[in-house]
Amino acid sequence: MTINLSYCQHLDQADPLAACRDRFALPPGIVYLDGNSLGAMPRAMMQTMQQTLEQEWGGELVKAWNNAGWAQLSQQLGDRVGQLIGAAAGQVVVCDTTSTNLYKAIHAAFSLRPGRDVILTLEDSFPTDLYMIEGAISVSGNRYRCIKVAQDRLLDAIDEAVGVLLLSQVNYRSGELLPMQEITRAAQARGAVVIWDLCHSAGVLPIEVDACEVDFAVGCTYKYLNAGPGAPAYIYVAKRHCKTALQPLRGWWSHADQFAFEPGYRAAEDIRRFLCGTQPVLALKAIACSLDCFAGVSLQQLRDKSIELCQLFIALVEQECADFDIQIIGDHQRQGYGSQVSLRFEHGYALMQALIERGLIGDFRTPDIMRFGFAPLYIGFEDVFQAVQHLRCCLQLELWRESRFQTRQAVT
Ligand SMILES: *Cc1c(COP(=O)(O)O)cnc(C)c1O
Repeated sequence: MTINLSYCQHLDQADPLAACRDRFALPPGIVYLDGNSLGAMPRAMMQTMQQTLEQEWGGELVKAWNNAGWAQLSQQLGDRVGQLIGAAAGQVVVCDTTSTNLYKAIHAAFSLRPGRDVILTLEDSFPTDLYMIEGAISVSGNRYRCIKVAQDRLLDAIDEAVGVLLLSQVNYRSGELLPMQEITRAAQARGAVVIWDLCHSAGVLPIEVDACEVDFAVGCTYKYLNAGPGAPAYIYVAKRHCKTALQPLRGWWSHADQFAFEPGYRAAEDIRRFLCGTQPVLALKAIACSLDCFAGVSLQQLRDKSIELCQLFIALVEQECADFDIQIIGDHQRQGYGSQVSLRFEHGYALMQALIERGLIGDFRTPDIMRFGFAPLYIGFEDVFQAVQHLRCCLQLELWRESRFQTRQAVT
């Protein structure tokens, strides 16, 4: 069967989520397949920001901490993010960055396993995860060590020395999805505490941190949650650990009685223990707005559509780009992948620059990986068709040879 434009348009007409695209402000003429790096802007964002500035900060000044509920935002938004990751209320706070929250989680996890000294992760974990592990080890005076293994060796590598296992649910490079429940169970059966990084999975697939009995999880809000560049991250701490795990960044917002202004530290005995200092309220308000875009949509619906988008992309690349030396990463069983398809091409950086100039936005990860993320809330099937036409055209014209596409920019 040949897949054509009218078939893709037909898929859009049959798509129950098609109307959700209107919740976002997307520039015309652009196919945006980089929601796995920076989500699109919700259409209501301008108004939310304007109201917050005029009425709350401008109108209420410092009173807004109470009158506009600023003081409770980290917890309230935490509960809302919790709904997207399968966490009951009271176990998630929105605050700081993913990197900072990783540091808190790593330290807290080790505090629960005093006799063990290894943190286990994968060789190709996201770099900030590896760096934060190194930092936590260095601050501990090298009491701990990190072991990085290839994925096929992971379960074998969990022995009695392993106190903490840190993994991304979806690999940022290949898009591969790890089985959360199976790995969490296996690690806990051997006595390890498990931390999941959800940056590339939250918002595009059902996640069940409570049901999987995950210990800790972290994630950002600027990818598939669409809260804007550098929006605060979140941290999930299973209820059973909230009173016992030690959080190293003992800011006043994590104190048991913040406004008692006691000279000594006493940790809050709930999820507030994982806060640190004052959060950027404007950015928190942006998260509230972006989470509204998920109203009336189930994660299973998003997952189903995401798999269909990815499968269509793969089928079209095979159909349209068979003559070119381009390789689809991984097998085509989308169940084992997140909402992203990665392609290998020797001149991937230059080709991506050419695609971006034509209006298809994806991104590049060294050495030769082009990533295409499919945010099912706002990407349609016709977008996928247009994307592959751009790809084939750039390959056919060998646009990647042009010198203006060779220079690497600061952000790839
Ligand atoms: C995007 C991403 C991060 C980002 O960390 P920040 O502190 O928000 O910059 C961390 N981990 C993974 C797996 C990511 O994909």
